[in-house]
Amino acid sequence: MDLHLQLLPVLPALEIVYWPAVVDFKYDSLEARADGEIVVGFIEGSLRTKQDVEGTKLMRKKCQIIIAFGSCSCYGNVHGLANQWSKEELVKRKFSEVESIADGSGGEPTQHVPGFEDKIVNVDEIIKVDAYIAGCPPRSEQIFGAIGFLLGQKPFPMNDLAFCNDCSLNQSGCLLDAGKLCYGPITSIGCSLKCPNAGNPCVGCMGPAKTVSARASKLNDMTKNLASASSGDKKTSNEFLSLFLNVPLMAGFDLSADILKQVKKRGTPETPLANLPPDTVSIASNVLGFLRDNRDLIDISTVCDTCDRIIGSKSTMTKVKRDYEGLPNLEDCLIEQGYICLGPVTKAGCGALCVKVNAPCSGCYGQTEWGVNQAERFADTVLKGFNVSLSKSDLLAQVKDPVGTFEKFTLASRKGG
Ligand code: SF4
Ligand code: SF4
Ligand code: SF4
Repeated sequence: MDLHLQLLPVLPALEIVYWPAVVDFKYDSLEARADGEIVVGFIEGSLRTKQDVEGTKLMRKKCQIIIAFGSCSCYGNVHGLANQWSKEELVKRKFSEVESIADGSGGEPTQHVPGFEDKIVNVDEIIKVDAYIAGCPPRSEQIFGAIGFLLGQKPFPMNDLAFCNDCSLNQSGCLLDAGKLCYGPITSIGCSLKCPNAGNPCVGCMGPAKTVSARASKLNDMTKNLASASSGDKKTSNEFLSLFLNVPLMAGFDLSADILKQVKKRGTPETPLANLPPDTVSIASNVLGFLRDNRDLIDISTVCDTCDRIIGSKSTMTKVKRDYEGLPNLEDCLIEQGYICLGPVTKAGCGALCVKVNAPCSGCYGQTEWGVNQAERFADTVLKGFNVSLSKSDLLAQVKDPVGTFEKFTLASRKGG
């Protein structure tokens, strides 16, 4: 519904078979379908009741591809903070103590309700998820990009020549020759040359070329050993694969290995990925193989990467301010003005929405690194790269509610937490 006018091209291409909030299909109509009959299922919301869990398992059975849609479904979201308490404590608080709600009966309701799970259950704890689209809510561009991709890939332009032929660094200063991964040797010409003109490697936006440049075999050799590549090269390779295979980055897909495999399968004679030059297929396979097994090793872009504010500004954090204290200016980084902005530790994708309206990022697109103490990671990151005149312990001691600050959207999904 959030697509606005873009609903016009999308709706006629879809057959909606189950959407409880909007269309009057009942649960038993979903149960009655054959397993795997539905092509794509989007699951939203976090799972608190036994019915939520059952419905999620049923969706997995009936759908070929499952996409966790929105931060609740991806990470548990704000509801996940409830996992700091036991079910008994929560039930007591909610049904016996809360002044506005308690009716004096003092227990978990049992009639006409499905019953609670012991905790907020993360969707991917109980079923396999093929792709994640984070956001609270996801932006409409992401939704459009994702649905557009799922409806079928648009053909690449596939020009005859590889990008190196146009590249401003072809004769001198070639990045690949200097040992940096650049996917120009197999990418089609035709872009504005923005990346090489700024000294950055080609990440393959234009898709494959019909022929490769002489540097393709060197690129092929380098991609056979991605494990020892620099973190920048791994990040380039991650972006390359999405763009090269026509998975729109704008869709915000956080791809699991399975959907990558499905993308690879699209290289059939009907698609433009068929009959590519052997070096191109080999390079894409090298990257695909590495990412499939090592996705956790890839540095991903952060909200700061998409934020216009100045880091290294005239301001310095000398104390931690709550969001309601003072009025930050619109130019300087919010951290340097004293606010806890989670931009440097949060996955990019929103375009720094909150920061643009002068509110610090609170992390709804999810962590860029998992399985670590997020408070410590934030403190280490900002002390290294931002104007902060506090020690790590002083900074962390001044944060009220550390769990609600650093794990507001992700506590339920914290690995090992
Ligand atoms: S490998 Fe990259 S930097 Fe080198 S010429 Fe080709 S596109 Fe340019
Ligand atoms: S910390 Fe926040 S305000 Fe500062 S650059 Fe990053 S996103 Fe922007
Ligand atoms: S700035 Fe942060 S909290 Fe706001 S939408 Fe982006 S990721 Fe979410």
